[in-house]
Amino acid sequence: MIMKYDCECGTVHSSKINKLIIVESGVVGVSEIIRKIIRAGTVNIIACVIAEDYARGLKLLMEKSGYLSNVYLFEESEDEFAANVEKTIDVASISDLTVYVGDEYISRLVTGGNSVFVLTSIASSTAISSSKSTVIVDKIAIMKCPFNHIASGYGKLITKLLCVLDYRAWTASQKDKKCNDILNQIEGCILRLFDSRYVYYKDGDFVRDLTNCFIQVAVYESMLDSSEMLHNYDIVSSNLQAVVGRKLLLGECEMIVGWYSFNILRAVLTHGGADLFYPADIIADAELISLLTKRKLKNVVGNIEIIKSSEVDRLAYVLEEYRIDIVDYINGIWDSLNLAMKNYRRIYYDAGLELSGSISLEKLSKVVCSSFCEQKYFSIVKLLRTRGEI
Ligand SMILES: [Zn+2]
Repeated sequence: MIMKYDCECGTVHSSKINKLIIVESGVVGVSEIIRKIIRAGTVNIIACVIAEDYARGLKLLMEKSGYLSNVYLFEESEDEFAANVEKTIDVASISDLTVYVGDEYISRLVTGGNSVFVLTSIASSTAISSSKSTVIVDKIAIMKCPFNHIASGYGKLITKLLCVLDYRAWTASQKDKKCNDILNQIEGCILRLFDSRYVYYKDGDFVRDLTNCFIQVAVYESMLDSSEMLHNYDIVSSNLQAVVGRKLLLGECEMIVGWYSFNILRAVLTHGGADLFYPADIIADAELISLLTKRKLKNVVGNIEIIKSSEVDRLAYVLEEYRIDIVDYINGIWDSLNLAMKNYRRIYYDAGLELSGSISLEKLSKVVCSSFCEQKYFSIVKLLRTRGEI
């Protein structure tokens, strides 16, 4: 595993991931690692509901080895998030080591300190780069995770590609620190996976390659100075998730948002004619998002970054400069993107899941386009929206 990278920008970047341990022997292997981290004491386990059986199995193994252990289950709820953070702090205060098991929600509850995050589902793979603690990847558990989790993991990669494109466009207007080498590595990992063909999507090869891809992307991502930019579509996807009524996991929504955005970019940038449009009414966008997602208007408006008109002009100039390059780039990866969508449908067919029927195209277009104003960092689609081109 490459944890340091000698970049073209002149810096040797190192991964911000604390410690990454990959376990090939399941929950038993995980318990052995924990025993090495701490020799005795209280090991409390914080888990999401889906990972309950796993957490209880781990607790038994720890108790057999003479540790004190308890399982605390958390249900995903944004409204309860602050209260849940308080609860996890309480649990951590009575533990010698806190073990977090499960999904992305649980990974957000990690408060640091003496803790371990155990990754048991590919749907929570972003936890690898964002976790403040040691990360143990349980490959056996990941192999067994449900189909929609696998689809969710795969879905995240398409928006990741979009973020890489935005990052490049953004650094094109900055003087230093382009770090194109690192972006190329991330893009290469994802495109290699998209270009690979698998017979059956729950086959070991596919899940293994997907897991490896995620680990590599997370390590490279954490080397970037502004790695948060590679999560810029989370808010758009979570708005979509709220509108489809949480039947879909976040990563599944990311696949839809990513594919939709690439199509918009390709269509709009090919034609140009930027000065013909009225700028978007951002407040109207915020109101629509608040209405569709049932979020409080003040929270939506709070996320909006007001761009000065001089800034819009500068960014628009950059966009015009690179318009052809961006279209060429998207055309260059177009076959891979189509193959990814084909693979994605196969995952669904194999799982017997329903892909269509979650949302109408009109509603999708409304929620996604209005949500760009909430993106925290620069993105090309956000700029197009601000300028009224989409
Ligand atoms: Zn660099």
